[in-house]
Amino acid sequence: VSAWANVPQGPPDPILGVTEKFKADPSPNKINLGVGAYRDGKGNPFVLPSVKKAEKQLVRAGANHEYLPITGLASFNKLAAELAYGKDSAPLKEGRLAITQSISGTGALRIAAAFLGRFYPESKTIYVPTPTWGNHIPLAKDSGLEVKHYKYFDKSTVGLDFEGMKADIEAAPEGSIIMLHACAHNPTGVDPTESQWKELSEIIKQKKHFPFFDMAYQGFASGDIVKDAFAVRYFVEQGHQLLLCQSFAKNLGLYGERVGAVSFVCADKEEKARVDSQLKIIIRPMYSNPPIHGARIVSAILGDEKLYNDWLSEVKKMADRIISMREKLYTNLVKLNTPGEWGHIKSQIGMFSFTGLTPEQVDKLAEKASIYMTRDGRISMAALNKKNIDYFAKAVSQAVK
Ligand code: PMP
Repeated sequence: VSAWANVPQGPPDPILGVTEKFKADPSPNKINLGVGAYRDGKGNPFVLPSVKKAEKQLVRAGANHEYLPITGLASFNKLAAELAYGKDSAPLKEGRLAITQSISGTGALRIAAAFLGRFYPESKTIYVPTPTWGNHIPLAKDSGLEVKHYKYFDKSTVGLDFEGMKADIEAAPEGSIIMLHACAHNPTGVDPTESQWKELSEIIKQKKHFPFFDMAYQGFASGDIVKDAFAVRYFVEQGHQLLLCQSFAKNLGLYGERVGAVSFVCADKEEKARVDSQLKIIIRPMYSNPPIHGARIVSAILGDEKLYNDWLSEVKKMADRIISMREKLYTNLVKLNTPGEWGHIKSQIGMFSFTGLTPEQVDKLAEKASIYMTRDGRISMAALNKKNIDYFAKAVSQAVK
């Protein structure tokens, strides 16, 4: 018998499975709203002009393909930290931020979870919002953490259940690990306000919880990298010892290059050195060292004033196009007398909108209109454009009538 005779068939990935169905559909009108990747106004993948320029520079410089150190490209790590925390951030200035390059945001999360599993003394339980990015749960479990949930989304208002969120975080045993989406919460597109973040910081401090930030969309949420980093920077100012996962997939459009970072705010330089040493010990047997190309691109852009400014305006353009699609979708749905309240389409933030469509309506849209999304009703706003938005709005309107 085959060695794998007893391997059970697993279910398809709930997000990437949507793309498979989309690909198999022959309709010329088909739309894939499943995957969170930015598309330009014509529905095509978008390579940022700043990225193109940086790549040309790299080719001209004749860069080699040597191994990076275990923790990646030093210039990238420094610039990634400055982007997230701000140049004047105390842990950076005082040399007490441990940071390593990672295989995009997912890899950052995986290293972070492994580190907590090994060294966080208070708890092995991580609290994630309900709902959260689907991959958070298996990723934390595979790293040996127990996953519990805190309330986040209120179906009745299609907004934040702030009271529920606070109550659950308060009720978690002291010293629990609390995972927070820094901005552009996936899948709901609903973020706490700045004053709500301040309250959360206070509760987390009082309960001696450990804040674990996942920031996969800096700049992408509002178009402003500083505004999107508010929660992280505020928590640092308040003295939290947090960890932060960063992804450059969305804000630089470097999805397939897999470039990210994970950082730990430490008490002092000496502690940082010990954390660094253990990060290396975790990473070395996982994948030895990270890929070089994407980190070089990011480093070339963030490290050059002109390219950096170009990039800031490109991120803003991407965010603004998404925001304009929100406006247009809302207006269309209202014009079509679509039953229900659709204001959330406009108020939600980032790549996604949590439409409130039911799994049955989602199925109907796939079957009748060749429109594909995850069954929770999440749509990637970036997949909508002037050409397909009327078709989409009409189909949604019909599906809910
Ligand atoms: N966290 C969240 C909340 C995300 O939405 C994503 C991307 N879908 C990631 C992390 C990581 O993505 P990547 O590994 O492509 O950087």
